Amino acid sequence: MSKINYYLSKKILIIESTKEDVNKTWCFWDSNDSKWNSFLSKKWSEINFKSSNVSLDFKLDNMTYNMIKSKDFFKTIKKSIESKLNVETLYDEVLSVDHEPKNVKVKTKNHSFTASKVFNSIPNFTPYKKNSDLKMLLQHFKGWTIKTKNKYFDDKKATIMDFSIDQKNETRFFYILPVSSNEALIEYTLFSKKELSDFEYDQEISNYLKGKGISDYKITSNEKGVIPMTCFDYSKYNTKNLINIGTSGGWTKPSTGYTFKFIDKKSSQLLIFMEESDDFRKFNKKTRFWYYDRIFLDVLYYQNHLGSHLFERLFKNNKIEKIFKFLDNESSLIDDLKITLSFPKFLFTKTFFKTLFKH
Ligand SMILES: Cc1cc2nc3c(=O)[nH]c(=O)nc-3n(C[C@H](O)[C@H](O)[C@H](O)COP(=O)(O)OP(=O)(O)OC[C@H]3O[C@@H](n4cnc5c(N)ncnc54)[C@H](O)[C@@H]3O)c2cc1C
Repeated sequence: MSKINYYLSKKILIIESTKEDVNKTWCFWDSNDSKWNSFLSKKWSEINFKSSNVSLDFKLDNMTYNMIKSKDFFKTIKKSIESKLNVETLYDEVLSVDHEPKNVKVKTKNHSFTASKVFNSIPNFTPYKKNSDLKMLLQHFKGWTIKTKNKYFDDKKATIMDFSIDQKNETRFFYILPVSSNEALIEYTLFSKKELSDFEYDQEISNYLKGKGISDYKITSNEKGVIPMTCFDYSKYNTKNLINIGTSGGWTKPSTGYTFKFIDKKSSQLLIFMEESDDFRKFNKKTRFWYYDRIFLDVLYYQNHLGSHLFERLFKNNKIEKIFKFLDNESSLIDDLKITLSFPKFLFTKTFFKTLFKH
């Protein structure tokens, strides 16, 4: 029996604090034959990038920009989980996860469990706050799904960054993700140090729509989120039998906040890893992309007003397929070099040497 089949034949308990599925919209680019195709509520083969200087349209070859609604996703996944006899779901709040030499103890409000392996995705910023001199930005956002009375949107095209708005000395942009000619998710997103109040997000979205001449609409749903953007090594807190996964495991791409596909990739890598090793401490490996993220984040942390300019240079000077490969941590060294040369050389070289000497 392979190691993975051995693990999959064990009793598996999923502990989740809430029965209600959160409303999240996941977007990511992927190849035309993406394994997620059957989950998609929308896909686009054209994308747009905008700043106050340029508006760039890109036609995607052999790939699409995709949208998954979390509620659709959970419905299918939960059905699949329910069909497995050895998997059980418990709705309860985890209070503590403690590793012991041979296993892991998990205490919930109502129960206590001992497990040989634990996969933990409970959000936890405490280790970062206590131990890090690394800089953290937040990707924070609020989105409205709106239905307009008139046909307003070109639903063949997704705007993935519209920086042509007041930056207020930070990095601020809009997503426009049209699902039809009169329905779209409009999301106000910031890469900055502090969240805004609900009122501020709402006011900015409302003003943005007004500026586009959209006034006759109703909001059908909204969603909010905060994604940590940090190079902090959460895997330091993995033990032999306990692994932190997802955003809590540091699986978010620090410089963009994109996580969905990284979780997908890391999960597959973890399965392969578990065939060979049963020690989670050995799973994470730092790659050169960690250093790129680190430099980019440091620049953006200290020069937060430069975000629009930096992304403009990235999108203006490179082919879209190469940009996506780079942001997926899958580009070649030559392409990395070309892409990094699109950024201001003095600023990035200075930050590069600072980073180098800190490590
Ligand atoms: C609104 C939103 C939109 C996003 N959009 C994108 C996107 O477009 N593209 C992209 O790549 N990434 C996106 N992300 C980032 C990332 O993909 C998601 O946050 C993703 O859901 C992270 O998965 P996770 O498993 O790490 O954490 P989560 O999905 O947050 O899972 C953690 C789980 O732990 C449970 N939990 C928490 N505390 C306890 C406890 N004490 N006991 C028991 N259970 C507990 C929670 O209920 C939750 O179900 C988005 C994030 C948000 C918040």
